[in-house]
Amino acid sequence: MSAKIIDGKSVSLGIRQKIKQYVKEFTANYGFEPGLAVVLAGDDGASKVYVKNKIKGCEETGIKSFAYYLPENVSQKEIIYLINTLNGDDKVHGILVQLPLPRGIDEEEVLSHIDYKKDVDGFHAVNTGNLLLGRDTIYPCTPSGCIVLLKYEGIQIEGKHAVVVGRSNIVGKPLALMLLKENATVTICHSKTKNLKEICRSADILCAAVGRAKFITADMVSEGCAVIDIGMNRLDGKLCGDVDFDNVKEKASFITPVPGGVGPMTITMLLSNTLKAAKTQCAK
Ligand code: NDP
Repeated sequence: MSAKIIDGKSVSLGIRQKIKQYVKEFTANYGFEPGLAVVLAGDDGASKVYVKNKIKGCEETGIKSFAYYLPENVSQKEIIYLINTLNGDDKVHGILVQLPLPRGIDEEEVLSHIDYKKDVDGFHAVNTGNLLLGRDTIYPCTPSGCIVLLKYEGIQIEGKHAVVVGRSNIVGKPLALMLLKENATVTICHSKTKNLKEICRSADILCAAVGRAKFITADMVSEGCAVIDIGMNRLDGKLCGDVDFDNVKEKASFITPVPGGVGPMTITMLLSNTLKAAKTQCAK
């Protein structure tokens, strides 16, 4: 069997078209656009590219972006002051603080100041708690993108055994909770897991969020498994996932490539979250 390769780029483009239409309707209804504030502190090259792409995504869909570029030596107090100002700004419906923040700044403390209704990254404790309770909330972007891809391809989640390798607060844990919300039976694996290979082989849906190039090999995957590769690693100067794509694709039923799989979905989900947050805040 050779897997169907899930084209995240094309799915993402289709969703952005829909978001553009909904943004148009929102703007006609309220007389202003949904607004996203993006805060970048420091000179990190990769962060600059992410921020540029987020702003570009806003432009493409009609969302108004407000960019704040802060110097590397900005203080924690100054960032929190800016967040508090943005919390009180009616034209700003979403606030995104690009991570990592400069050394010495407590990221958790900074993020905790974002009004949870404007937390379009879905990292705030209130949104995380709502996710744990199975309530509708603002979901973290990358895990959201994975669920959308599974549904788009018509891959059944309910009743299936989903294995998530990785338990970070931004990918692994929320993804596991979202799969649980979709009624999968979920196993979370991490660096202390015993018998990882056997557990992975028992998966109907295998999600890799490890951060190690080609970590999931063909002998860890059963025939017909749907494989979602979240990893973004550099190998010999090239972008590469956590899954040994060339060999695993011969066994899987579906597989996401890197690049072009989950990656393009992340910013699209951010735009979707911004629209959702704007609607929630403006609903009377
Ligand atoms: P983290 O480093 O925060 O987490 C990695 C997880 O993998 C940890 O839970 C760790 O376990 C687990 N792990 C490490 N080694 C092993 C092992 N040998 N066996 C089993 N589990 C292991 O990474 P993130 O969750 O932030 O990111 C994961 C990957 O996803 C990265 O490649 C990152 O670049 C990518 N990513 C992609 C995004 C996208 O838009 N496509 C967005 C965000 C991330 P333990 O907890 O025990 O240490």
